[in-house]
Amino acid sequence: MKKSFKILMLLSAFLLIALPASAKTIRWRMALSWPSNLTPLASPALEVAKWMKEMSHGKFIIRVEGSEKTKAALGVLDMVKSGSYQMGNSGSYYWIGKDPNTVWFTTVPWGMTTAEQYAWFYYGNGMKYMKKVYDKFGVYSFPAGNTGVQMGGWFRKEIKSVKDLKGLKMRIPGFAGKVMARLGVNVVNIPAGELYTSLDRGTIDALEWVGPAMDIKMGFYKVAPYYYTGWHEPASEMQFLVNKKAFNKLPKKYKVMLTTAMKAAAADMFIENFAKSVTAWQKMKKQYPNIKVKSFPIPVLKAMKKATDEVMNSYAQKNKLFKEIWTDYQAYLKKARVWTMMSEYYYLKASKEVGAGQ
Ligand code: CA
Repeated sequence: MKKSFKILMLLSAFLLIALPASAKTIRWRMALSWPSNLTPLASPALEVAKWMKEMSHGKFIIRVEGSEKTKAALGVLDMVKSGSYQMGNSGSYYWIGKDPNTVWFTTVPWGMTTAEQYAWFYYGNGMKYMKKVYDKFGVYSFPAGNTGVQMGGWFRKEIKSVKDLKGLKMRIPGFAGKVMARLGVNVVNIPAGELYTSLDRGTIDALEWVGPAMDIKMGFYKVAPYYYTGWHEPASEMQFLVNKKAFNKLPKKYKVMLTTAMKAAAADMFIENFAKSVTAWQKMKKQYPNIKVKSFPIPVLKAMKKATDEVMNSYAQKNKLFKEIWTDYQAYLKKARVWTMMSEYYYLKASKEVGAGQ
């Protein structure tokens, strides 16, 4: 009896030493740049929260707060920087006003495809540059899912030449907007909630959003018949932000769990968005058989490429790091594209020739 009591005492003492770190429940909050029900964009945030709770046996709780709660879609970086939220889920190119180099971690016109870009992130210099750019904000940035090639947008009228772009009123944000402005487009900024009505009433002539999975929820296909293929956002990557101090304080096992969960959730979003685009496109086409999928004529695409180079050059001249990353990005793209063409491109071309998958 005495002996077993002793063992029990020893065991309790051991548990008291071993338990405190794991016994304390960690409670974090994550702010989103979009509503928390806007899947697939919001899916990675919801998944990370769910997985962290399960993997930690309820000891690591992340409360997800969408823009419907925070009312500050574009305040996410500041909120994570200040530590009022330990995590954020957003898009890096929302911060080009703070630093144009944030654009590299979303996408650029005529840039890499999703596979090429992930290769640059994880096996090239992408993550190294992401850390460098976000260090000054006191946050870590991680990939949070990719939309794949985004569509060029919904147009009320067909674009037959560069001339047709002159004076065209279009919602197209970011670097692509700057490119379009150079080609004479009247680039407008309209809140998401007013886009459908603006397009329907002809207040704007065109807009770009994402692709079928996201576009179907906005209903643009009901009011604009031309759906143009993409050039401007070939691989838009979303982003997780983590407050550095909060992350560095975590026990190692939670650091590993969290980084693994973020990576898995990012991959999952790409797959979910792909699958939902497949079904959304079928549905749209069935409801509105007159939707015409168009590619811009070659001279228009060439003008877009030329204007893109001009925009990139103007930033490279002003910003040393921009020039450094652009040089690295282009060099990686050049060698990665050789393999993309040899593999995916020629496979798809050959499949089309023989009627496979049609
Ligand atoms: Ca877009």
